[in-house]
Amino acid sequence: MSTTAVRTPAEYEARLREYYRERSEEGRAVRVGEKEVSEQAAIVARYSDLFSREQIDALREAEASSSGDERERLYRLRKACEGGFIYNELAEKGDALENALIRSRVTFNGEEMPLRAAQARLAVIDEYADRELLGDLERAESAKLNPDRLDLLTVSEELEGEVSGEPDPIARTEEEKAISLRDLERALVAASDATTTAYERLRDRWFDRILGPGRDAQPTNSHVAYMRRLSPLESTYTKDGAVPICLASTLAIGFDLTAIPNIRLDLEDRPQKNPRACVIASDPPEVVHLITRAQGGLADYQAFMHEAGHALHYAGVDPRLPFTFRAISRDHALTEIYSYILEAITREPGWHAEHFHLSDTQAAENAEATLFLEALLYRRYTAKLRYELGFWAAFAEEGGRSPRDYSTLLTEATGVRYDPRNYLSDMDGGFYSADYLRAWIRSAQLRAFLVGEVGEDWWKSAKTGEILRGLFAEGTKPTSEEIAGRLGFDPLDTGPLVADLNAVG
Ligand SMILES: [Zn+2]
Repeated sequence: MSTTAVRTPAEYEARLREYYRERSEEGRAVRVGEKEVSEQAAIVARYSDLFSREQIDALREAEASSSGDERERLYRLRKACEGGFIYNELAEKGDALENALIRSRVTFNGEEMPLRAAQARLAVIDEYADRELLGDLERAESAKLNPDRLDLLTVSEELEGEVSGEPDPIARTEEEKAISLRDLERALVAASDATTTAYERLRDRWFDRILGPGRDAQPTNSHVAYMRRLSPLESTYTKDGAVPICLASTLAIGFDLTAIPNIRLDLEDRPQKNPRACVIASDPPEVVHLITRAQGGLADYQAFMHEAGHALHYAGVDPRLPFTFRAISRDHALTEIYSYILEAITREPGWHAEHFHLSDTQAAENAEATLFLEALLYRRYTAKLRYELGFWAAFAEEGGRSPRDYSTLLTEATGVRYDPRNYLSDMDGGFYSADYLRAWIRSAQLRAFLVGEVGEDWWKSAKTGEILRGLFAEGTKPTSEEIAGRLGFDPLDTGPLVADLNAVG
C-alpha cells in the first residue's frame, strides 16, 4: 500500500458524512427491494482510506489538545474511525459467518427451509407442538455455528482491545458509554425484583391466553416470537389499519408525518421488501427514511410507533449542529428513549379505546397484553446484561467457551426456558442490552415528566410534541444521563419504571 491520506478533523468529518450517506442509501435500496444485489463492498473499498491506524492516531492527537464540546466531537470521530477500521479488518470473517447462516437449512415436516425462514416461521405457526419441534430444530442447527461465532468474537475482542488501548472489555464499554455498568446492573435487578409479583400475574394470564391450556408450565423460547405477535388480539389490530391509525396517533401529539419533507415515508406492502420496520437516517436532519411493512397484528402498530420516534428525533435535529452531533452518538441509549416513548402510546388504554372502538374493559385488557410483553422483554434484557457482564468478566480466563448462567438467569427472570445453546447467538456486540435498558429507565421517566407537564392525556396532546421537539433539536449530542437531568431525575431512578411495570389490574 502507498502512503495513506490523513485528513484534518474537519475534512474527516465531511468525508465520513458522505460515506455514511452512501452506505445508508445502498442499504436502504436493498432492504426495500429496489436493488437485488448489495454493493456495499464497492463503497467500503472506495472509502477505505477513511479507516487507517494513521487516521486514528491523528484524531487522537487532535482530541488530546482540545477541550469541551470539541473534545467530545473529536472523541466520537475517533471512535467512528476505530469502529470502521475494526469492521474492515473483520469483514471477511463476518461475511463468512453470514454466508454460513444463509446456507444453513432445517427440514421441518418434510419441508426444507433456510434457517432464517425457520426463525420467521416460528412467529406464525399456530400449533404449540409444531413450534416446539421447529424451535428445537432451529436451535440445534444454529448451534453448529457457535465455533465460528466464538472465533469472530475472540478476534474482534482482541482487535478492539488493541486499537482502543483498553484490554478489559467491561472497562472499555464503561468508558465509551460514560456510565458504570455495575451500578446500572444493580438498579435494573432491583427494579426487576420489585416487579416480580406483578409480572407473575401477567405471565400466568397471558401465557394461558396466547399459548393455550395445554402449554408447558415453563414453555421454551420456541414460543417467544409467537407470543410477541399477540395472536388473540389479531382481528382487532388489522393490517390495513396500521398506517392510518399510526399517522393519526403521531398527528395527535403534533407531528404530521405526511407533511415533514425530511422524513421519506415508505409504508407500502411490496413482496421484495423486508418486513421489519426500520429507520435509516442517511443524512440527518435532511434525509431520514421511515420504512414499515404491515403484516397484521398489534406488533405492526408498535413497530411503526417505535420507528416514528427514531425518525422524528433524527429529522428534528438542529441543522446548525456539526455533522457529528447530528448523526454520531456514543451509543444507542439516547435515540431509543424517543422510540420507546412513542411506542409507549400503544400501552395507553385510552389509545386502544379511541382508535379501535373498544369498551373501556376491553381496551384495558388489550393494553395489559402490551404491558405483559414490555415486562417480559425488560426482564429478559436485565437478565441478559447480568449474563453478559459475567461472560465478559471471565472472558480472559474462559475464552467464551462456556454458556455460564445464560439459561438459568434468563429462565428465572422470564419463566420462559431459554436454551443454553443460544448463549452466543443471543448476544449483541458492545453491550447493546445496556442501551435498551437505559432507554427503559429513561422513557419511563420521560412519560412521568409528560404526565406531570401535560396531563394523563399526554399521548394525544400537541404539548407533548412541543416538549419532544426541544429534546430532538439537541441531536445526538446529549447522553441519556443528561436527559435524566433535564427531566429532573437521577439517571438510575427506576421509580417511574417500577410504577409502570406494577400497574396491573
Ligand atoms: Zn429502536
